[in-house]
Amino acid sequence: MPYHVDAMNADCDGFAVVKDDDGTVLGCHRTQGQAERQMAALYASEADQEDDDAYEMDEERADPVAPKEDQIEGSSKNDPGSASDKSGDISLSAETETALDTKASEHNQKMTDDDRPNWTRVRVGALRSVYRRGSGAFSGSHRPGIGRAQWSMARVNAFLFLARTGRPNNPKYVGDNDLLHSDHPRYSEQKREASFSPNQAMRNEAKFGLKMREEYGRGGTEVGVARARDIANGSNLSLDTVKRMVSFFARHEVDKKGKGFTPDQEGYPSAGRIAWALWGGDPGRSWAERIVAQTRGLNTRDLDASLEWSDKQVILHETLHEIVEKTGLFEKDVSNNGAHYNQISPFSSSGIVCANCVFYMGGQKCAIVAGNILPGGICKFWIINETLLTITKQETPKRNEISEMLASWNLTD
Ligand code: SF4
Repeated sequence: MPYHVDAMNADCDGFAVVKDDDGTVLGCHRTQGQAERQMAALYASEADQEDDDAYEMDEERADPVAPKEDQIEGSSKNDPGSASDKSGDISLSAETETALDTKASEHNQKMTDDDRPNWTRVRVGALRSVYRRGSGAFSGSHRPGIGRAQWSMARVNAFLFLARTGRPNNPKYVGDNDLLHSDHPRYSEQKREASFSPNQAMRNEAKFGLKMREEYGRGGTEVGVARARDIANGSNLSLDTVKRMVSFFARHEVDKKGKGFTPDQEGYPSAGRIAWALWGGDPGRSWAERIVAQTRGLNTRDLDASLEWSDKQVILHETLHEIVEKTGLFEKDVSNNGAHYNQISPFSSSGIVCANCVFYMGGQKCAIVAGNILPGGICKFWIINETLLTITKQETPKRNEISEMLASWNLTD
């Protein structure tokens, strides 16, 4: 190791950065952190040539837009948001996993051998997330002549460089700072928010909606127009926006039954049809529902830890999941295997609806009941956190009503 920090150096009152070879004091600092930062800068300037060709692309996409064949939407193996933290809950090829494991352990071993600060260490989960982000970014833009795997691994190398030296090779590379060790000087707590790129079919719909609105002067609101512009331009949409899309389509399903929704009807395109298109139309609806279902699917196994649950709710939740794993989904009917599902909840005013249930997966899907369900429906298995309930005090039955009821069951008071 060429440098170290020395807190007891005779030539420095504070923390000295010392060259190993000859003991030269290269800097004297009031705090250890300042000394480590100088050391990091020294390492950066002497960084291995192997990293010079590291990840040069930045989040602003200085490189050409990826050709169409490279623009892959989503992943069949990994759910949206899977690269949002250091857990590395991501499926990669065995070859890639081995390569990342090796990179992480070699890097950490070297940091230990060189007696480098803890913040230079990396977790293999973080490398997986960096790799996955690199793969996703490749769909947006990349240097010509480079493959997806190569592009992703270059990003991993850039990350290791940043972890080791305390600064990125390319100053614009800031997109993975949340995956660094929490004591790293560049660590940023700000988590990457998952975002989703609209597909071509919904972009066409949004363009159609904007065109029709201009031509006919009807349909949609300013919010719908703004949404259409984002979709038509192919801008990435946040999970919040995707959820709002699901909610829009659920609320406006009824417009499809109105006059002028289809080209064969008088009054086409109706205001409802234009508004529907502004939000991405049918392709946008299935796209948004799929994303919300996938993200909810990740969580239905765990109750939201930020809320309080009773022991009974926890056990019931786990048990229902186990039953479904062993015997399959419940039917909606009132048979022995049925969930006694009702598509209009009689208790909706109290918040007892599928949309609030822990098993609700967005759109028309439930994690434990088969077929389509409605957000406003309910079944006998509902588990809803009490913060979502608005139950008002029940009216106490009158004395004579209780007596009548007991009499009808041949019971006495
Ligand atoms: S109430 Fe029943 S049908 Fe509705 S989401 Fe919950 S478990 Fe599914």
